[in-house]
Amino acid sequence: MQRLATIAPAEVRQIWALLEQIPDPEVPVLSITDLGMVRSVSPQGEGWVIGFTPTYSGCPATEHLLGEIRAVMTRHGFTPVHIVLQLDPPWTTDWMNAGARERLRQYGISPPQAHACHAGLPPAVSCPRCGSTHTTLISEFGSTACKALYRCDSCREPFDYFKCI
Ligand SMILES: [Zn+2]
Repeated sequence: MQRLATIAPAEVRQIWALLEQIPDPEVPVLSITDLGMVRSVSPQGEGWVIGFTPTYSGCPATEHLLGEIRAVMTRHGFTPVHIVLQLDPPWTTDWMNAGARERLRQYGISPPQAHACHAGLPPAVSCPRCGSTHTTLISEFGSTACKALYRCDSCREPFDYFKCI
């Protein structure tokens, strides 16, 4: 992922590192930077501006996350902090990094299938436990609106699929 962090002042790198530790409340193995929600960190005057794109607009997590960002920034003396919500372009599961997809699988959630999504095809959802692609959609809505519920026809276990958008 190309970040300005490599050419930016030490504080910017420090802030990215702090933000990397904020978990997504719905998928605690992923942080907001894993998901690509943090778009930018830049100094402005005496303070900081953070560009933030929420994931699924219907997810109630956004307000919580904005509070977490403000809290961690304040705790480490990076104030004032101004968070700019960037809704265009909208968030897409493509912004999720490779490490995040693997952690998602280990957590028991099948990661989003971007190729199928862009081609308008139903995704070939694989079972996060046994890897089988013989899976059946049970419900468009899993444990949260962001996920669909599947069942593996090989190992018979139900699992969540992280829907791509
Ligand atoms: Zn399975």
